[in-house]
This record gives sequence, C-alpha cells and structure tokens, in this order.
Amino acid sequence: MIEQLIEAGRQIVSAHMARGWGGNLSGRYQGNIAITRSGADLGQLNRSDFVVVTPRAPVHQQRLPKPSSELAMHLTAYQTQPTTQAIIHAHPPNAIALGLLGRDLPALTPDFYVHLGTSAPLLSYITPTTEELGAAVGELLVSSPAVLLQNHGVIVLGHSVSQALLRLMLLEEQAGIYLQALAVGEPRILTEEDMLRLDVVTGGRYRYGERMP
Ligand SMILES: [Zn+2]
Repeated sequence: MIEQLIEAGRQIVSAHMARGWGGNLSGRYQGNIAITRSGADLGQLNRSDFVVVTPRAPVHQQRLPKPSSELAMHLTAYQTQPTTQAIIHAHPPNAIALGLLGRDLPALTPDFYVHLGTSAPLLSYITPTTEELGAAVGELLVSSPAVLLQNHGVIVLGHSVSQALLRLMLLEEQAGIYLQALAVGEPRILTEEDMLRLDVVTGGRYRYGERMP
C-alpha cells in the first residue's frame, strides 16, 4: 500500500496536480490509516514520510510526527465510506478553475460516469485543515467518490490506490474539457437517459442515482 502511494505521489506531481507541499495521500494500513506527514513533497515520498494514525481517534489526540494538516478530512472520509481503501487530496488546476466558477463537474463522457458517477459536486470554500471542512466533505462523499473543494483542490476516494489515481486523472481531464467547452458555448452534458442506457450496456454495475462505491 505505501509503495503504491509513493508511486501515486510521483504521478500526481508529474501530472502537475500538486506542487511542493501541496496535497496529501492516505491508505488503510494494518487496521489503521497511513497518511503523508505534514510538509511532505508528494513527488519525492519515501516510507518515512508516512505517519500511521488510528482511524477513530480525534485529530488533536494523534501522536507525532505530525500527520498531514488535512488529516480531519481523510479520517471523516474513511468513517463515511467503510469500503474506501485509499484517498488522494491534490490541487489539479482545471478542477480548481471550474470550482472558481461555482460549478459542479457533471458527467460528460461514459468513462467519467462509469468511474465517478453522475457528477463531482463542488463544496463552497471552507478554510483548509479545519474539522468543519472534514465534516462538510464527509457529507458530500456519501453520494460521490470525488468532491471539488472551492479555491483549494479536490478529494478523491478509491477501493485501491490505483482506482483513486484513475479517478483523479479522469476528473482533471474532464474538468479541462468542460472549461474548453464553456469558453465557447453551452456544453451538452450526459442526460439521465444517457446514463440509464449506460447502466444497461455495462450490465447494471453502475446504477444511475445510486451511490458510487
Ligand atoms: Zn490542499
């Protein structure tokens, strides 16, 4: 798990979705949660950059070395979604730009719908690192595996590190496409009927309106 998170960090930085100390990664690890330490560079992680914390202890009771300042957001997400194995928080520019416009990211392509569901909702700006942000993110993650954080970044959940990374890449790519289309007109997004038909051809694995696991 930790090796996969290290590799994911490299890919996130090389894809320009985090810089310097920006972003953080976590995964379930031996009954606990392994999360990047505060100030870690996602592009150059090693095992000593991970802090193991207990999933249910309040943030202020967690021991040093200092875990990521976004620990509250990660822990709330794991509590909200027991099947989640990995979480990525990053600062992808297209997704952030879309959030500045006050827009959710709707499903524009079948790929997005199959991997991320009907949309990635936007959470209005809340100060980073606060427990208030963690609680608000947790509410939106009940119905979607990815949330846009206004004026900040995104949080994406996965059943595995590779799924969380794929979802992040898809989300950022689709945010860029949506911005390009918005710049010149009113984009067509997938309709409810489109998504219901996709449910049929994918064998009903992803049912419209149900929570995306
Ligand atoms: Zn951040």
